[in-house]
Amino acid sequence: MEHRTTCSYDGCTRSPWWPGDGKFSGVDAFCIFHSPLSDKKRKEFKEAWEIFLANTFSDSRTITSLDCAGFIFPVQIELKNLIITGNADFSRTVFRKDASFDKTMFASADFSGARFESDARFRKSSFAMPAVFKHTEFCDDVSFTNTRFIDEADFSNVSFFGNAHFTHAHFDGKTIFDDARFSRFGFFSDINLSCTTITFGSHSRPYARNKRRTSSHAVFSLSRLWNSFQKQHLKYKSAPILRFFL
Ligand SMILES: [Zn+2]
Repeated sequence: MEHRTTCSYDGCTRSPWWPGDGKFSGVDAFCIFHSPLSDKKRKEFKEAWEIFLANTFSDSRTITSLDCAGFIFPVQIELKNLIITGNADFSRTVFRKDASFDKTMFASADFSGARFESDARFRKSSFAMPAVFKHTEFCDDVSFTNTRFIDEADFSNVSFFGNAHFTHAHFDGKTIFDDARFSRFGFFSDINLSCTTITFGSHSRPYARNKRRTSSHAVFSLSRLWNSFQKQHLKYKSAPILRFFL
């Protein structure tokens, strides 16, 4: 059988990794980062990740860019209190354990198609450029509490299987939740909207204008359920602006 000399993940040129005696075969050999063998690779992944990360730092807090597309993290990941000056690419990344990005300043970030299988935290983080969470799956709770989206925030087709906390989040740019799936609760209390448009669902029937908190206007459109929730909560200052259950 053909032995690959590079990882099978599209575009990855790292050497394949295989547990045990180092022998690998077939076309499905992946590097330590892309290998789906989460249980077996844990220890070696940690070591490789530390080296990978060390090479991205330009000083003690600043990371130039992160290309972690398609990585499969078998362990908890903490990238807190950092400044990432270039693109952070976590597209199609799988986080098997908790992932924390609290207080980290992102430039642009791509989490499209990523899957968070445990808790995800972006508390007090900020995104200066587009934050892309298209088709991202949050299997457990996620917190964007006090998170600031300065540019576009794209949550289209995202799946929230746990609670999604957006309390005190700032949405300054175009904000898209079209076809977002909320299986439990979405907490949007005390959000700050200076964005021109925030959309929920692809049916753009504007029925709520939140003049109290927005500098322009907010368009909320979703289902009848959404409609009923906005009627209950939108007009009360202290109550959740948007809280719904689908
Ligand atoms: Zn690879």
